[in-house]
Amino acid sequence: MPRSTRSMNATKHVALVAHDNKKPDLLEWAEYNSEQLAQHELYATGTTGRLLQERLGFTINRLQSGPLGGDQQIGARIAEGTIDALIFFWDPLEPMPHDPDVKALLRIAVVWNIPIACNRASADFIFSSPLMREAYDRPVEDLSDYQNRDVLMDPASAE
Ligand code: PGA
Repeated sequence: MPRSTRSMNATKHVALVAHDNKKPDLLEWAEYNSEQLAQHELYATGTTGRLLQERLGFTINRLQSGPLGGDQQIGARIAEGTIDALIFFWDPLEPMPHDPDVKALLRIAVVWNIPIACNRASADFIFSSPLMREAYDRPVEDLSDYQNRDVLMDPASAE
């Protein structure tokens, strides 16, 4: 599979999202890692962002609340290449009205090969990596074959 890369600077653009039952966990984790988080540009869905801002005391770029489109806004930024990492404490025990958005966000994060942490242990492993403090060229699949593929416009002509 041909590959290309997307560059990440030493200062990363990190998105943080937590479902309601997971917000206490994310806030505790963020407070513990606040010095390191302060080195990066932070984004969050609306409520997560408000709570993080109150707890950490520094500015978070707040998007819409998740169920109102915030997950999709983060997904769009990942596709545009302006978000480098995703800390997403989603709730595995509670159905969400915006389940399709949750799935879409996780999917697009995999498409663009950004680091994703869906629980605290993974977030610890990502944040203890030296790569969080260095520039890094992320390999991504070269999608030009897909973008330039032939699309059958008239199924009858295939017969
Ligand atoms: P919230 O959204 O931060 O606005 O609560 C999180 C989510 O449910 O995706």
